[in-house]
This record gives sequence, structure tokens and C-alpha cells, in this order.
Amino acid sequence: MIKNFIDEEKMRKALSLLERVLEVLEQYSGIVDIENKYPEDLMNILKQEKVFAMMVESEYGGLGLDYVSALYVLREFSRRIPALALSVFTHSQVLEYLKVSRHDLYEELAKKVSRDGTILALAITEPIAGTDIKRIQTRVRGHGDGVVINGSKSVVTNGAYADFFLVLAKGEKGDFCAVLVKSDLGVGIDAVVDTIGMRGAGIARISFRDINVPREYLLEVGRDVIRNLFHILSLGRMFTASMALGVLDTALSEIFKWASTREVLDKKLIEYENVRQEVADIAAQAEILWTHLIGTAKQAEERKDISYDAAILKFKSSELAKQAVDLASRLFGSHGYLRGTIIDRIYRDVKGLEFIEGANEALKAYVFKTLYKRFNKNANLLRVLGEDFE
Ligand SMILES: Cc1cc2nc3c(=O)[nH]c(=O)nc-3n(C[C@H](O)[C@H](O)[C@H](O)COP(=O)(O)OP(=O)(O)OC[C@H]3O[C@@H](n4cnc5c(N)ncnc54)[C@H](O)[C@@H]3O)c2cc1C
Repeated sequence: MIKNFIDEEKMRKALSLLERVLEVLEQYSGIVDIENKYPEDLMNILKQEKVFAMMVESEYGGLGLDYVSALYVLREFSRRIPALALSVFTHSQVLEYLKVSRHDLYEELAKKVSRDGTILALAITEPIAGTDIKRIQTRVRGHGDGVVINGSKSVVTNGAYADFFLVLAKGEKGDFCAVLVKSDLGVGIDAVVDTIGMRGAGIARISFRDINVPREYLLEVGRDVIRNLFHILSLGRMFTASMALGVLDTALSEIFKWASTREVLDKKLIEYENVRQEVADIAAQAEILWTHLIGTAKQAEERKDISYDAAILKFKSSELAKQAVDLASRLFGSHGYLRGTIIDRIYRDVKGLEFIEGANEALKAYVFKTLYKRFNKNANLLRVLGEDFE
């Protein structure tokens, strides 16, 4: 079924990229986790292989992957270094925002990303504003030919590496503004955050103190900002689901390796019926989610609204990945309770998936709201034939 959604040429490009980089990622996986950064050698390879330009069209010098093939690449990355998948898709969300809001800037930056390995970051979350973005305090005011920005952001993936930040702020009248800020204008990297998981993604606390930004980099003001922000958050949720399934793949493969050799009370763990049932249940749900994810990616390529599906995919995949990692950790017993093991790493990584691109509870609240609207309209609560028919 999935085959019907695959563009062969794009998937071939994805496979070729994976062939060139997967072994390297395998080698660096432990170091990235320990050092909480991508070492320079690794970063050079990522730039040379245009990893950050994977979703940029070939006419701008990128690899030209579509969402389906990109999801596959991100899932493979996540088996080794989930933080890298997070870095790449967050960066790609910024490009997508530019594509839908300011195509001239998109073209300029897409070329830079492909040519120089320019890295982008998305700066929304603040100490008092996470789920509730209405509370953000970063402010933009007009000044001469440009605008001045002041404020701080508390959790910014790629913050330590970024050349540009897409910043959500408010204007003098309280309207939302989207501003593109070049890092060398004086963005303060206050700290690279010592996260427990997703280490290496350069997650940083950053600040803007009276930074003058040229007016052309004030991308949008008002409702368009929120509309386009929700558009890229939906894409981010889709990518997070793929990342979750990559972590789940690692958990399952660790389970098989361990349980097929570890003997407990005269039989191998894999021979216990409860283990088989649990593994089969997790695998079945993962298969269903991946099929739904690929179908949703196709919808996104056709510019359809994927917000409902993306929310479901994100919270279900992250919860399932957590269940898989928990099972792996249980089966390893005390042997998985050691620092430096793969179980240790995925146990820490999987936790972050609950919050990335929106807390799971907030996404469930959104899904419930959609169901309630359907109920009030006397429509089918669940889609049966698809929205085009209902
Ligand atoms: C690894 C990682 C990378 C990130 N990268 C970025 C980035 O690049 N840029 C960026 O701007 N942000 C980033 N974030 C921040 C992320 O977007 C926020 O964590 C998320 O939006 C939730 O906000 P919060 O952490 O402030 O939690 P809060 O909004 O304070 O929520 C706390 C808790 O409240 C509960 N809750 C929230 N909403 C509801 C609800 N509707 N119903 C019931 N309970 C609810 C949930 O349990 C939730 O976990 C990143 C986070 C992580 C973990």
C-alpha cells in the first residue's frame, strides 16, 4: 500500500543519501549524546552531503526530497541520532514558513542552505509561554528603516548552530509578528541547555537585546502569522511522529537481540507468551501509524489541511515509542539500568517527544474539539469516506 505513495525518483535520492551518511551517524551516535553537540567533523559531513537541504528543491541546489521520502530519512536518522532528525526538520519548518509567507526570502535562503549549509532555528517558546503562545513577551517596535526586537526564548533547537532565527514576537499593538533575525546581528546564546535527551540538537536559551532588524525581515503581522505557524507546526508533528517511530525501531531491535539470547528460568525471554503479545501489539500499532503517516505526508504535498491527522500521529506515535522503550527497559532489567547503554539513551530521548511540537495533552484537546464540532454539526464523529465525501 505504501508503495503507491512513493515517488521512485525522490526515494532513490533518499536511499542514496542514507547510503552515504548512515554509517557515519552510527559512529557518532554515542559521542553526540555525551558531548551534547555535533562535532565539527560530523557537521562538515552533514553540510557536504546537504542534509540540511534535503527538502530544498533541486532548482535551488537542494536534494529535492518530498515529504514521504524525507519522513523515511528522518526515521532512519532517529534510529541512530534522533536529535539530528529534530535539527533537520525544525530547520525545514523555517524554510517552509518562508516559502508560504515570503517566497523571495525563501529562494535566497534555500540557495544559501544548499550552498553554504546555513542552519535555521525556530524560536517560539519562552519561559512563561509554551503551549499558551498568547503569553509571549518578545516585542518588536518600529525604528527608522527597520524594527527593534527585545526578548528571550527558552528552548530553541539548533540555537547553538543557527545562522538565522525565525522568531515569534508581538508588535506594539499586541499583534503577533514573525521576524527573521540573522544571528550575527547580536543574538545572545545565553546557554546551550543541558537536556536529558535529544542531546546534540544545540537546544539553547537565546536573547535579543535591542537588535535592529531590517524591515524586509519583518515577515508578517497579525492573523497570517498564526495561520502559517500552525501550518508548519502540523508538518513538525508529522516529522515528530516519524522520529518517534525511529526510536521505536531501535527499541524493538534491542528487544529482539536481547530477548532471543537472554535466558530466565530455563527459557529465553522471547519464548514467554506475554513478551510475544506485547511485541506484536507494539509492532501492529507502529505499522498502522506509519501507513497513516505516509498517507498524511501525501496529503501535505497536495497542500491539504493535515492538522487533525498530524496531531493524532504525533501523540499516538510518541506514546507508542514510549511504550516500546519501556518494554525494552523492562526486559533488560538491571542491564538496561546502566549509563552509556542504548536503553539509557532512548529512555531519555523518548521523553522529549511528548513536548516537541506541542504537548500531547494540548493535541488531544484539539482532536476532541474537532470531534465536538462534528457532533454539533450532526456529522459522522469519525471519518469514514474522507472529508471530500462527508
Ligand atoms: C527536545 C525539545 C525541543 C524543542 N525545540 C523547540 C524549538 O526549537 N523552538 C521552540 O520554540 N520550542 C521548542 N521546544 C518547546 C516545546 O515546543 C514546548 O515544550 C511545548 O510547546 C510545551 O510547552 P512547555 O514546555 O512550556 O509546557 P507547558 O505549556 O507549560 O505545558 C506543561 C504541561 O501542561 C500540560 N498541558 C499543556 N496543555 C494542556 C492541555 N490543553 N490540556 C491538559 N494539559 C495540558 C501537559 O502535561 C504539558 O506537558 C522544544 C521542546 C523540547 C522538549
